[in-house]
Amino acid sequence: MKHGQNVMTPYEAAQALAWLAEMGAEEVIGEIAINRLQASIPLPSSRRKLGPTVEPEPKPPVTSRGEMGPGVRRDDGSAGELEAIAAAIASLACPLKKTATNLCFADGNPQAHVMLIGEAPGRDEDLQGKPFVGRSGQLLDRMLAAIGLSRKATEPERSVFITNTVFWRPPGNRTPTESETSMCLPFLFRTIELLQPRIIVCLGATPAHRLTGRSEGILKMRGKWLTCASADRNIPLLPTLHPAYLLRQPGQKRLAWRDLLMLRQALDAN
Ligand code: URA
Repeated sequence: MKHGQNVMTPYEAAQALAWLAEMGAEEVIGEIAINRLQASIPLPSSRRKLGPTVEPEPKPPVTSRGEMGPGVRRDDGSAGELEAIAAAIASLACPLKKTATNLCFADGNPQAHVMLIGEAPGRDEDLQGKPFVGRSGQLLDRMLAAIGLSRKATEPERSVFITNTVFWRPPGNRTPTESETSMCLPFLFRTIELLQPRIIVCLGATPAHRLTGRSEGILKMRGKWLTCASADRNIPLLPTLHPAYLLRQPGQKRLAWRDLLMLRQALDAN
């Protein structure tokens, strides 16, 4: 992996180590990792209009940010626009607002190359107004650290931006309804269009379904490169298992680990 030998903070290194231990790692084999993932990853690249896609287009490689053509760039005032999106969300008449404590829009680095999209805020997220801060979020941080990513990192190539398909906690942590996700989806797509992540990772079935228009179970969808059609390009999208599911089914962490390695490889290939 090329994600740096001396860029992790001690906290991130501890997180990464904890994840690797959870994955069953028992000993250190060598200083330099061998890349056993030689096969090229099929990644989509053609352009379509904003909205869910049905068929993936497997064409490598991931386009670089410089090739995206016109559009809002992160370094030319996107922070203000992101605040405008958050303000627009705050004024949305979504029924979930009635039972939620706080709006929970996003966390992480808006300049990140990777955008993670979960399902909906839970109890801890509702209280803090930030996505993935509870137990699932802590597991997510460990998983990310194991491949050299962190929501706190300032470098775009090391960081992630995190949001959800709905921005308020559904009562009792139920799955958001289609009408609730449909209300929030335009704001999610606007955020994607504004931030132009190189890669989107969907955590669980709800975001994977809403962003691709597909409906298979997450165990079928995960670990395959699909696409999210953004205004001026298709963004490679990787569905994976939700950390909350991994907490309930720890034996499935090996599948999530494969997906993380696919993500790492795609980032390194760029
Ligand atoms: N689960 C999610 O899908 N999102 C969160 O923000 C927290 C838990």
